[in-house]
Amino acid sequence: MKVHEFQAKQIFRSYKIPVPDGDVAFDHQNATQIAKGIGKFPVVVKAQIHAGGRGKGGGVKLAHSLDEVSQHASSIIGMNLVTHQTGPEGKQVKKILVESGVNIEKELYLSLIPDRETACILVIASEAGGMDIEEVAAQTPEKIIKVFINPLSGISPHHCRQVAFGLNLPASVIKEFSQILTRLYHLFVENDCSLVEINPLVITKESRVIALDAKMDFDDNAMFRHKDILEFRDLDEEDPLDVEASKYNLNYINLDGTIGNMVNGAGLAMAVMDTIKLAGAEPANFLDVGGGATAEMVENGFKIILSDDKVKAILINIFGGILRCDILANGVVEAARKTKIKVPLVVRMEGTNVEEGRKILAESGLKLFTAVDMKDAGEKVANIAVS
Ligand code: GDP
Ligand code: MN
Repeated sequence: MKVHEFQAKQIFRSYKIPVPDGDVAFDHQNATQIAKGIGKFPVVVKAQIHAGGRGKGGGVKLAHSLDEVSQHASSIIGMNLVTHQTGPEGKQVKKILVESGVNIEKELYLSLIPDRETACILVIASEAGGMDIEEVAAQTPEKIIKVFINPLSGISPHHCRQVAFGLNLPASVIKEFSQILTRLYHLFVENDCSLVEINPLVITKESRVIALDAKMDFDDNAMFRHKDILEFRDLDEEDPLDVEASKYNLNYINLDGTIGNMVNGAGLAMAVMDTIKLAGAEPANFLDVGGGATAEMVENGFKIILSDDKVKAILINIFGGILRCDILANGVVEAARKTKIKVPLVVRMEGTNVEEGRKILAESGLKLFTAVDMKDAGEKVANIAVS
C-alpha cells in the first residue's frame, strides 16, 4: 500500500525526521491559507499523486507571493499529470501539498528496502540525488552506495558513518544525518515498510538536513496491525475494479487484455495467464478466488470480471480442492443469471465433486464451452476472443 507525500511526512514528523512546514490543500483558497500560515516565501506547491517524477512533469512549482500560490494551486489541482511513473495516460491531481521552501545546498538520495537475497535491510544512498537519480544509477552506478543492515542486530553508528562517508558529507552535518538515518530505520521496521525513499534529502545553506520529498510503501500483508496507516489509504489512486475486488477479499489485478480469468490458487492463475499468452491472446485480469472460496466469492469475482468492458471471453479454470466444483458451478450460474452474461465462457474443472459441478453447468442453459485440459482451455478461449 502506498501513501501520499504529505502523509509520509506526517509519519516522518512523528519520528522527528525533519521535513518542511506545510499542509495538504484541496483548492486554491485552502492553499493560500496554508501559505499565509507559513508566513515566508518561497512556498512550494506540489501535486499529491501516488507516483514520482512530478517535478519533471510540471507538478512541483515554487511560488514567491500569495498570488502565485493561488495560480499554481489552480493550475495543478485538476491537471492530468503525466510522469514516467504514471504511464502515458497520466493521473488526475486532486490535492496538493503547500509547504515552506528550502534553501538547497545539495540534493542527496536516501532509501531503505528489504533485500531478499541477504535477508537484510538495504540502505541505498547517493550524493547525486534529485530528479535524475534513475540516470545516475544507469550511467554512473559507482555513485550509488549500498549498506546492508542485519535486522537481528539492527542499526548501529558504524552503519551511519559508512553511509555518511560514502556520501562525502561535510563534518558539520554528519551527526544530524546519522540521527535521521537511525530514525528512518526504526520507522521502516516498526511500520512494516517495503520502501522508504527520500529524494531529495537536502543539505540546506544553513547546514541543516531536511527530507524534501517522502515516499513510503507498506507490506499489504502487515496492514492488519497498522490501522492508523490503513486510514491513509486513498481509493482515488487505485484502480476502481481492484478496490471493488478487495472488498470481497479477492486477489484481483486489472490488466490490459481481453480474456477474463477466474482461477483458484495464485500459482494456477499465473500458469493460466501464460497459457493464454501462449495461445496468442492477452489476459484482462488476474483473479485468484482463493482455496477456501465460497459461492458468494465466486459470484462477486464473476461480477467484477463482467463489469470490465474489455472482456470478450471468460476462462474459468478451477481445481476443486477445498473449493468444491459444485459450489463453484452454483456460484457461476447464479452470477451469470444475475448479470445476464453476454460473453462466451470456457470452463475447465477438475477435482472434488467434478461430476456434480459439470452437471450443474450442463443443466444451467448457459452458453459455455468445456475444455479437457489447460492447453485446450487456453486455445479455445483465445480463438473466441481473437475471432
Ligand atoms: P518528484 O519529482 O516527484 O520526486 O518531487 P520532489 O518532491 O522530489 O521535487 C522535485 C524537485 O523540486 C526537487 O528535486 C527539488 O529540486 C525541487 N524542490 C522541491 N522542493 C523545493 C524547495 O523547497 N526549494 C527548492 N528550491 N526546490 C525545491
Ligand atoms: Mn523526489
